[in-house]
Amino acid sequence: MTHGDGMLPDALCFQSPEPLIDIGANLAHESFQKDLDAVLERAARANLTAMVLTGTDRASIEASVELTQRENPVALYATAGLHPHHAGDFDSSLKRFIEDFLDHPRVLAVGECGLDYHRDFSTPADQRRAFEAHLEMAARTQKPLFLHERDAGSDMLDMLRQWRDEIGPAVLHCFTGDRDTLYGYLDLDLYIGQTGWLCDERRGEHLRELVVDIPGNRLMIETDCPYLLPRNLPAKLKGRRHEPALLPWIAREIALCRGVSEAVIARDTTANARRFFNIPDPA
Ligand SMILES: [Zn+2]
Repeated sequence: MTHGDGMLPDALCFQSPEPLIDIGANLAHESFQKDLDAVLERAARANLTAMVLTGTDRASIEASVELTQRENPVALYATAGLHPHHAGDFDSSLKRFIEDFLDHPRVLAVGECGLDYHRDFSTPADQRRAFEAHLEMAARTQKPLFLHERDAGSDMLDMLRQWRDEIGPAVLHCFTGDRDTLYGYLDLDLYIGQTGWLCDERRGEHLRELVVDIPGNRLMIETDCPYLLPRNLPAKLKGRRHEPALLPWIAREIALCRGVSEAVIARDTTANARRFFNIPDPA
């Protein structure tokens, strides 16, 4: 098969030397509706073997879980939770809705959930209340947690410390914070997700140093597509939509920062994702 789907220029048709897992892809996003099959084919060619689709509200949870049940060239799984932006919508009916999905065999984690004080789409009080409920669900089900935090590291650390003994494994997805916050998370034995944010020569500069400090057995990678298109791609992309097939570029950047090979990053992050989410090994 050629790369003639019309979306990715040849310079952006990467292939990882070892299998990769994208732990955060928003494939239920409307921008993927038209050409999802081509997106998944490209991801398979790039050597992605599994993806975890992020459920952030009722609609995206439902749509993501539906996608996991199709015949796909890449194994698809999902998470179920409420993004802190929508925390004002959290109530007992939404909690039951999430709990029902947590029983689904393709739903591997509680989240996306957490705290985001960068944008005030929901009040901090509403965010803490919704997040507390997600911590409680994670403790009860012992499913791993998929966490989001921006400009709220101190409150996030406080709440995680209170729940640390009750909850199981947790990943801070798309970590972009400072060194103290990173070490706080690592002290709580969290996994750390890295996106193409560190490909940004301006706002990602501090992360290029910090990514070296994440232990190899705690690092995972994700596109967070369609958001966070890497800024240093070797070719322009029409529409500027990020997609899973570009994950090898992020792995390569992380490898450069850490002074190891792409294969090492792929092997470590894939092993971590399989262990963390309990994703079965391919036959
Ligand atoms: Zn997020």
